Amino acid sequence: MDNKIYNKLGISDEVLCFSDKVLKELEERFKGIDETAEYNQCKVISAMQENRVNAVCFAATTGYGYDDVGRDNLEKVYASCFNTEAALVRPQITCGTHALAVALSAILRPGDELLSPVGKPYDTLEEVIGIRESKCSLKEFGITYSQVDLLQDGTFDYEKIKKAINEKTKMVTIQRSKGYQTRPTFSVSQIGEIISFVKSIKPDIICMVDNCYGEFVEKTEPSEVGADMIVGSLIKNPGGGLAPIGGYICGTSECIEKCAYRLSAPGLGQEVGANLGIMPAFYQGFFMAPTVVSGALKGAIFAARCYEKLGFKVVPNSTESRHDIIQAVELGSKERMLAFCKGIQAAAPVDSYVTPEPWAMPGYDSEVIMAAGAFVQGSSIELSADGPIRAPYAVYFQGGLTWYHAKLGIMMSIQKLYEAGLLNKELL
Ligand SMILES: *Cc1c(COP(=O)(O)O)cnc(C)c1O
Repeated sequence: MDNKIYNKLGISDEVLCFSDKVLKELEERFKGIDETAEYNQCKVISAMQENRVNAVCFAATTGYGYDDVGRDNLEKVYASCFNTEAALVRPQITCGTHALAVALSAILRPGDELLSPVGKPYDTLEEVIGIRESKCSLKEFGITYSQVDLLQDGTFDYEKIKKAINEKTKMVTIQRSKGYQTRPTFSVSQIGEIISFVKSIKPDIICMVDNCYGEFVEKTEPSEVGADMIVGSLIKNPGGGLAPIGGYICGTSECIEKCAYRLSAPGLGQEVGANLGIMPAFYQGFFMAPTVVSGALKGAIFAARCYEKLGFKVVPNSTESRHDIIQAVELGSKERMLAFCKGIQAAAPVDSYVTPEPWAMPGYDSEVIMAAGAFVQGSSIELSADGPIRAPYAVYFQGGLTWYHAKLGIMMSIQKLYEAGLLNKELL
């Protein structure tokens, strides 16, 4: 590789040489990722062909959005691809948290209990559920919450889960990705096991999987191993970087019907919701998603191997199997977190000249630092790094619309740590 273009971008020869060494070790790993991407690309194309996607699907609708062919057909494409009876895929779903809140409040009624058998859910859900006091939380509506933590080794505590399921338990929420934690992310097969277990105790429990960051990482999705609903954000994996907003819920017809009534209004449901001309980005983004996810995965593994070699704890490590696109790197200090994020920011195509600062982000309980220079604001399928400023000072690194950009971002993060004297230089 011609070093000059990298030197121009600010990467030194030491960091380039280190990165070349690391990449040589990852060739086999990357082949496996390409193979999964190829399979998932075929899966998406097959779903589009099955549902006869055509130019009419890309037309804009306004107002009520009755008979919106593009919207209705996109939902069929998602349902086919993720193997569910139905789907709700909408720009009116503002983000992942909103999609999850819709799914939870569509199913739960006063007196019901929600169980998380996999420990604490994602930060923003604490307020949705009412774990942290919040206006309009499920708790305010008389819905209780119970939680069973994972065992020390990150596996399910079956005994306690069995005890926690009672006559009030209506719904179980399972978060696939680790989120802002250092526990392992669950594989689709592990999720299948926990769902089977829960249903063996109480068959009518609705199992919802928070699928954020997991789509297209494996060849199957949790909806194919028993989940009644899978939920995610379109500015993460399935939007392929092109969707400028949106969320999805895929699942049984009964669940999706309720979610649609909750999202719009009882009696209206899926019939309303104009697409406002956004359909080309939703279709094309879904088409691109398997390839984009593969680039992000390569970036995550490259980051894991680099930082492992530099002496940091990384979760997952560079050899473990992957079930989401997130890479946690425990940097051990606020200064290193800031330097890492500076590097990611400096490698961006947009806003590369700004310096990320920690801030009190709505929905989170400690200050959060975020680095992203994204075409879509807040998009975390684009190269981004973030993390709450608290021990163990872990940054969560994810995304990259192309592998080459992800690679540059990681090299730049190492460069910034190196320049600030925050690395053990002998390890480089
Ligand atoms: C991102 C994320 C969410 C919330 O999504 P937003 O789009 O940020 O509201 C929920 N759960 C997990 C695991 C996530 O990664």
